[in-house]
Amino acid sequence: MTREVYFDNNATTRVLPEVAEAMLPYLTEFYGNPSSIHRFGSQVGDKISEARAQVAALIGAADPVELIFTSSGTEGDNAAIRGMLEARRDKRHIVTTQVEHSAVLGLCRHLEKKGYRVTWLGVNENGALDLEELRAALTEDTALVSIMWANNETGVIFPIEQIGAVVRSKGIPFHVDAVQAAGKIPIHVKDLPVDLLTISAHKFYAPKGIGALYVRRGLTFPPFMIGGHQERNRRAGTENVASIVGMGKAAEIALDRLAEDPARIGKLRDLLEDLLLDSCPGSRVNGRGEARLTNTSNISFRYLEGESILVLLDQQGICASTGSACTAGSSEPSHVLRAMKVPNDWLQGAVRFSLGRFNTEEEVRFVNQTVPSIVQRLEGLSALGKLGEQQGRRASTAGARG
Ligand code: PLP
Repeated sequence: MTREVYFDNNATTRVLPEVAEAMLPYLTEFYGNPSSIHRFGSQVGDKISEARAQVAALIGAADPVELIFTSSGTEGDNAAIRGMLEARRDKRHIVTTQVEHSAVLGLCRHLEKKGYRVTWLGVNENGALDLEELRAALTEDTALVSIMWANNETGVIFPIEQIGAVVRSKGIPFHVDAVQAAGKIPIHVKDLPVDLLTISAHKFYAPKGIGALYVRRGLTFPPFMIGGHQERNRRAGTENVASIVGMGKAAEIALDRLAEDPARIGKLRDLLEDLLLDSCPGSRVNGRGEARLTNTSNISFRYLEGESILVLLDQQGICASTGSACTAGSSEPSHVLRAMKVPNDWLQGAVRFSLGRFNTEEEVRFVNQTVPSIVQRLEGLSALGKLGEQQGRRASTAGARG
């Protein structure tokens, strides 16, 4: 059996055994609907309140009622942005960045087609934002600003407190997509100039399909899902009880381990980068000059295709990702790396390694033993391909002449 090395924790994480264990009774035994008056309902309702408090603690919210459980990070992002547009209907302008996850990017592109004006803030070569560009973008017509905390492809961390101060000085609501940040860096939202903040449980060892949106107390927030009275009328639909319980447990564990895990994982990530930069001469780390999540490494291999590297890595049991979107079979270069003006030679050959709690130094060393031979093999093929192309061109020119 081939071994498996999972270095794709920004895509999703394994559910912790403690989390699965906490969830199970809420599928088998306490299966009531929390809205029911009888005991089955109240047992479950109390557990949801406990989970809400656990999630509130992870992001440092002042009051658990500021949290609304959602079906995903994507839903949180959509609810926040659409909610602010609905609450401020006279305003038609949104400010966001060029490097957002598709949950924000795709929605803002859609809204642009619907007649909203969107300012897409750029980043520099390291992936950093320019606060002056942000300040200049804000107008009387700006309905909201939506900016991610940590980038899913590069791990680059934006200075949310400073960004929030600029946005708040203009009285504009500020939404933060903290899907990659939660559980990886400390968050104290109550002390920050942030009005809405999205998180997603499957990025911190809980199941997929459950997330939460923080809505600062006092902010007008029209509901996104309309129907029953769940979530204080802010998100209708019978609660995903077992997953909420799992998210609460995972949040509690993530908070407990925040002082320890990111530092340990960071040492592994740094080791991986040092080893790979050394063993693969045509490689570079994208975003290395900025503050980054300690688990994420985005490495470009010059002249190569990231997807070819991934396929060969997968054959050796190593799971990573490119972070780039795949459209109809043709691979598009990453919009994040393009925004960072990564030169063409490096643009297609990006691989994202994202480490997690279960990874070991031995795995890092195994990856470092495997990657260089894959890179050499692909470099050989790409050199052959180039040679073939040149010969083909010569032959066809000769044919034309003849
Ligand atoms: N925002 C960011 C930064 C993400 O990385 C992701 C998922 O990868 C999302 C939003 C979407 O979250 P979900 O997968 O829960 O819909």
